[in-house]
Amino acid sequence: MRQFIPFALPQFGEEEEQEVVAALRSGWVTSGERCQRFEAEFRAYTGAAYSLAVNSCTAALHLALAALDIGPGDEVITTPLTFCATVNTIIHVGATPVLADILPDGNIDPESIAARITARTKAIIPVHVAGLPCRMDEIWALARQHGLKVVEDAAHAAGTHYRGEHIGGAASQSDVVCYSFYANKNLSTGEGGMVTTNQQDLYDRMRILCLHGINKDAWKRFTATGNWFYEVLEPGFKYNMSDILAAVGIHQLRKLEAFTERRAEIARQYHERLADFEEMELPAGTLEGRHCWHLYMIRLRLDSLSIDRAEFIEELRRRGVGTSVHYVPIPLHPFFAPWRDRPENQCPVALAEYPRLISLPLYPRLAAADIDYVAEQVGAVVVQSRRLPALASH
Ligand SMILES: *Cc1c(COP(=O)(O)O)cnc(C)c1O
Repeated sequence: MRQFIPFALPQFGEEEEQEVVAALRSGWVTSGERCQRFEAEFRAYTGAAYSLAVNSCTAALHLALAALDIGPGDEVITTPLTFCATVNTIIHVGATPVLADILPDGNIDPESIAARITARTKAIIPVHVAGLPCRMDEIWALARQHGLKVVEDAAHAAGTHYRGEHIGGAASQSDVVCYSFYANKNLSTGEGGMVTTNQQDLYDRMRILCLHGINKDAWKRFTATGNWFYEVLEPGFKYNMSDILAAVGIHQLRKLEAFTERRAEIARQYHERLADFEEMELPAGTLEGRHCWHLYMIRLRLDSLSIDRAEFIEELRRRGVGTSVHYVPIPLHPFFAPWRDRPENQCPVALAEYPRLISLPLYPRLAAADIDYVAEQVGAVVVQSRRLPALASH
């Protein structure tokens, strides 16, 4: 039998291995010289003015909202089609999440955001779903008009460009951009994340909040030129990245352009092989920048198939193809019950799209034969479960 093709796999090489060993042998394993290098290279890559390595994107989002002083009584608008972390962190700071509906491309709908803005709204968190850039011009216009902050959940979007530059770059009007380096993300350190900003005051606040609210990091306390004395300015968090993970990140970042090109090539091959099946819709590209193809999300046309999404996924699993669903919409999770029934959280488009969504395997390690096999099997499941058109009556 053919080997199972997992939905996602990271790709590490000797460069990462050697740098991790060097970090371990150096004796400095918490945030230090390697984190500083990773941050500097990440600034150079994205064009952002400031960067801070953290231990997850969840930490990054929490840090951003806390540094922006968002809290009880405030509303934060985000999308229903995201990972729970986007909404959990809004709740962690004591603010109220508000869900705007999505566009057919999966990203948050600026018109729906506009309809949700109240006197309490403080911030918008767009998510670049699958690596497709959101309509940032429209989101920034709303933010300017209403005095709102913009925090991008860029967990999928390391490598995504918008209007000629990397998201979060020099021309970005967002306040903070949050990246994830989780196991299955385009750049992986196992666990990890990064915040970038173009505002020095926000960077300074996040740097302090990231390490207990201490005014001096370990590097400035324990190295030869350091000094033992420190003070806690406010009760912060423990969100800094370890140098062991930064060692991985430095080399993953250097490979990210090659990874992104490979991902785009795989997406192109899926497009080519699946385009003729009318029983599904393929993911849209973008003319406003560069899709980084974190995910390849197909949408089934359920009325033309005799099976539902769960059966489709099960059939692919039986044939040795791993898939996933991005995402169970936020309002369907039990934790969201207190906010679910409010009129401002109704998102019919997201709820209608959800039963149709399947994400196919897409990662640089996917072999040419695996890409062929996945496309072939998806096609075979469609053909086998095609609903015959009703006979025309006349
Ligand atoms: C992965 C992910 C996160 C959380 O990232 P972590 O680094 O695991 O905390 C947040 N938002 C989205 C959209 C994600 O996909």
